[in-house]
Amino acid sequence: MSEYRFTCPNCDACATVDGGVRERLLIVGCPVCAGAVDTPAFVEVSPHNTE
Ligand SMILES: [Zn+2]
Repeated sequence: MSEYRFTCPNCDACATVDGGVRERLLIVGCPVCAGAVDTPAFVEVSPHNTE
C-alpha cells in the first residue's frame, strides 16, 4: 500500500500515513488540531526514496 506524507494546512503537523489513514483523515480531519484536511495535504512517498 502506498504511503503519504501528511502536512496539516492548519497547524503544520506532519506525519507519514498509509492509504487507509489518509482516507480517514480526509473524513475526520487533522488528528492534532481537528481542522479540515483536503487532498493536497497528502503527497505520495516513493517506496524507493527512503532517505
Ligand atoms: Zn492540524
